[in-house]
Amino acid sequence: MEVTYHCQAASPDRPNDDFVLATETFVLVLDGATAPAGVDSGCVHDVPWLVAHLAPNLAVALLRDRSASLVDVLRDGIAATMADHGDACDLTNPDSPSTTVAMLRCGVDTVDYAVLGDSAVLIEVGGDDSGLIIGLDDRTAFLDDYSLAAVRRLRNTDAGFWIASNKPEAAERAVVGSVPRAVVTRAALMTDGVTRLVERYGRSWRDVLDRLDKYGPREVVADVRAEERATAPGAFKGKIHDDVTAVFCRF
Ligand SMILES: [Zn+2]
Repeated sequence: MEVTYHCQAASPDRPNDDFVLATETFVLVLDGATAPAGVDSGCVHDVPWLVAHLAPNLAVALLRDRSASLVDVLRDGIAATMADHGDACDLTNPDSPSTTVAMLRCGVDTVDYAVLGDSAVLIEVGGDDSGLIIGLDDRTAFLDDYSLAAVRRLRNTDAGFWIASNKPEAAERAVVGSVPRAVVTRAALMTDGVTRLVERYGRSWRDVLDRLDKYGPREVVADVRAEERATAPGAFKGKIHDDVTAVFCRF
């Protein structure tokens, strides 16, 4: 598997809460949740610390057992990262730092994916059953209430959404799938900073994959920034610019 990617902060003077770790057999994309101002997370660490610890913990689990289920990898990675926090952090705090996780593994016989939180994995399948498989966890788009108190109450519950933070069992709620490796032609992973090309700006998943292939991840990130600059302030709820990660994989 050949992997290319581009990962860029929302603004050059802000830390990047997105994180990529890639090898020729797997790709990990994390998008740390920006901590709301004034909220006590119970943790002495920041979001870049969380993604920079969870990603290598996931990588160790993937490398140690190349046939492990991605749910087990995710559960072990979250548990190992909780141990990394140490005694100074209160991991029972419902506002403990959190991150999305999107994983793609090119295994011996299958290509496997897991998504927890609002990142996306695309897998293109060739041959007789050609098409695009879209691994998307959109539970955060359907909350009844987005106030800080409601999100705190709904986080890591079946009534709300699941995210990588202080509950290893969140792994069992990830969106997962496997595809025979022989039929996979191309794949992509992206954080919600890039999925907005589809969700806000009307592009198709196929168009995003084709542009990643033809022009590369840097140009697709430039597409996102061009759309954002052309958008009237207040046209969409949420951030005008977000951290962005786009990964393209060729098989
Ligand atoms: Zn901590």
